[in-house]
Order: sequence, then C-alpha cells, then structure tokens
Amino acid sequence: MSPQGPEGRGALVDGRGCLTPAGFATLSRAPVGRAPADLAGHLASCSRCQERMLAGGTSAARPPASSTPRTPRLWLGVALAFAALLLAVAALILAGRMR
Ligand SMILES: [Zn+2]
Repeated sequence: MSPQGPEGRGALVDGRGCLTPAGFATLSRAPVGRAPADLAGHLASCSRCQERMLAGGTSAARPPASSTPRTPRLWLGVALAFAALLLAVAALILAGRMR
C-alpha cells in the first residue's frame, strides 16, 4: 500500500541520478519531512535539478514575473538604439545645412 516500492524507485531518477518528472512529482506530493531522503538529498546538492524544478512547472508556485520584464527591456534597447541612430542622422543633416 506504499506509494512507491523498490520497483518504482528506478523511474524517479534517470541514469545520471537526476530526478525525472515522476521524481519531481513524488517530491512535491510528499509531506514535508516525509519526502524520499535520497531524492531530497540529491535535489539539495544538484543545481541542475533545482533549476529544472523551478522551471519545470511541476508545482503551481512558478514566478510569473521572471519572463515578463525581458521583453520590455529588449524593446527599450531597440528603441534607444533607434533614437541614437535618428539623432546621429539629424546631426549629420544639421551639420550639412550649416555649411
Ligand atoms: Zn540532479
């Protein structure tokens, strides 16, 4: 009646010992302090699995603001470059008129 037996343990980690989606699901479903010790221990020491857990969306606690500021920043950079180009062209035109 246990949620995972020794047979199911193989599906929770891949060949390199990193957590699979099933492993993440098992960890996120387990009550605090009752998570499989080897899975929790690996997650604590493996930055790749931590990043995958943050980015994978296995839990609903995803930071929604992480990708939002990037697009306005890119457009701001493009707009600034365009404005600088316009200023340079305007300066060239003005310099041409002066003579
Ligand atoms: Zn890992």
